[in-house]
Amino acid sequence: MTQHDAIVIGGGHNGLIAAAYLARAGLDVVVLEARDDLGGAARTEQPWGPDFKVTALSYVMSLMPPTIIDDLRLRDHGYRVIPMGPSYLPFPDGRSLLLEEDPRRDQAEIAKFSRRDAERYPDYWAWLAGVADVLAPLLLRTPPRLGSHRPTDLLDQLRLAWGLRGLDVRTTAEATRLFTMSIRDVLDRWFTSPQVQGALAVNGIIGTWAGPDEPGTAYVMMHHTIGDVGDGRLGSWGYPVGGMGAVADACAAAARAFGARLRTGAPVERILVTGGRVRGVALASGEELAAPVVVAATHPQITFLRHLDRRELPADFVADLEAWRSRSGVVKVNVALSELPDFLADPGTDLHPRHTGAIELCHSIDYLEEAFQDARSGRAARRPYADCVIPSTLDPTIAPEGAHVMSMFCQWVPHTWAEDPQPGELEAFADRVVDAMTELAPNFKRSIIHRQVIGPHEMARDYGLVGGNIFHGELSTDQLFHMRPAPGYADYTTPVAGLYQCSSATHGGGGVTGIPALLCTRRILRDRRRAAWRRRPW
Ligand SMILES: Cc1cc2nc3c(=O)[nH]c(=O)nc-3n(C[C@H](O)[C@H](O)[C@H](O)COP(=O)(O)OP(=O)(O)OC[C@H]3O[C@@H](n4cnc5c(N)ncnc54)[C@H](O)[C@@H]3O)c2cc1C
Repeated sequence: MTQHDAIVIGGGHNGLIAAAYLARAGLDVVVLEARDDLGGAARTEQPWGPDFKVTALSYVMSLMPPTIIDDLRLRDHGYRVIPMGPSYLPFPDGRSLLLEEDPRRDQAEIAKFSRRDAERYPDYWAWLAGVADVLAPLLLRTPPRLGSHRPTDLLDQLRLAWGLRGLDVRTTAEATRLFTMSIRDVLDRWFTSPQVQGALAVNGIIGTWAGPDEPGTAYVMMHHTIGDVGDGRLGSWGYPVGGMGAVADACAAAARAFGARLRTGAPVERILVTGGRVRGVALASGEELAAPVVVAATHPQITFLRHLDRRELPADFVADLEAWRSRSGVVKVNVALSELPDFLADPGTDLHPRHTGAIELCHSIDYLEEAFQDARSGRAARRPYADCVIPSTLDPTIAPEGAHVMSMFCQWVPHTWAEDPQPGELEAFADRVVDAMTELAPNFKRSIIHRQVIGPHEMARDYGLVGGNIFHGELSTDQLFHMRPAPGYADYTTPVAGLYQCSSATHGGGGVTGIPALLCTRRILRDRRRAAWRRRPW
């Protein structure tokens, strides 16, 4: 049995960042990844040969704190993000909206739909920024064990209360609204135009098994809108040069440079526990590896319900994990294009800012809700929503000259599609996405030279995204902060001593943020220091 200081299960970006931090602290670390490649959901694939690089699953960066990028010297390992262009919404009536997230400049665009909405827009942004300023730093704070009476936990709760001292009665009320309201109800307080509401609602439903009418979607909007977590300004949304796989490659290179060993094709089958303490892992091959610290960077239902015997865990914790909701109804459609979309609303296939940011297939807020209601009633959306980007407009390394790669993040199909393959229906859904885009840009369908379709079943089976949820678990209010992924264990510990967790299903996760890995490794290193102090000879 080989002996290590720490074993990391899962070579997604969180596993790689955790390994890098632990190796940087001098630990002998090995990462065990089931697949033959690293990166998890942050990946670049080449399904159509060497000419095109496809950012197969996740496609844009934003929430990775500068601390991680600097600590791990990710830029030295090739990490580079190009800010994406404005959001563009073409509509079937020939109008369009081009939003740059600059309240003053966007006013003129919004006025095309409603003068009153345009007037209110800067105040809406100011309101959002005000609440975000107070809430955002919570993303970089380890959640305390709310309700625990242990002295150290009480201290953590006091620290949290102190950290929230910036809240006053008004901001507390606004934060409560954000956590509990639907994005539609929030937008109804500000805007009247269905197109403007649709444009502003998309951040509330991205990757979510919920339409804009569902309570809690206002928070999801905030999660995707946050710009500063008290760690310097986060990057605005952008395309990593070389696709999302280049982010994972940079994290892997950093981990290796600090001395971590990264093993692929090494699926873990069991986490080995004796007397409530972790002692290592067993691979599917039968090989066993020993370590006093094991970090699970896998979906929590894989970690706790497959890799551990339930009898090793408290019954209420098992019940929490069994009830963990991990649905999305997301389908990824990636295409190679021979030319850029020629929109009826704004004709022209020459490169224009409208091609360089998010292109939303969203006619109105009702369009979004109808797409969700279709899927909720058990059929794939007849008129799907899609968040599309063409990163090759700004990153020439991923497509040959003149051609492009487009990533279409589409919603919704029934979340139950995660359980079984749906080849015919999945392709039919992708056809509808293409047709809907072709209604707005007539050259679109004929410009497609290659297509890749990844549905919820493929996400679960091939990439370990249980239930097809893109964040390892829904970002609903009851699955956030001190509840993520279970009450009492949101501080990256688990009921098994020495076993820690840092997947996207822990606080700070929900995207390629690396925050779970950062906070988890801080916790591990603190626990090691305390243990060493307790073992001191005097
Ligand atoms: C379609 C899609 C689009 C998205 N778009 C964005 C986006 O644009 N921007 C953004 O920030 N986020 C996006 N996300 C979310 C983001 O990609 C994920 O939240 C994040 O990548 C998860 O990282 P992770 O390291 O926690 O887990 P993962 O990346 O899921 O890594 C977990 C790893 O564990 C491995 N594993 C599983 N079982 C075992 C086992 N038994 N033994 C060993 N290894 C195992 C898996 O193979 C996998 O490599 C998207 C996700 C999807 C699916």
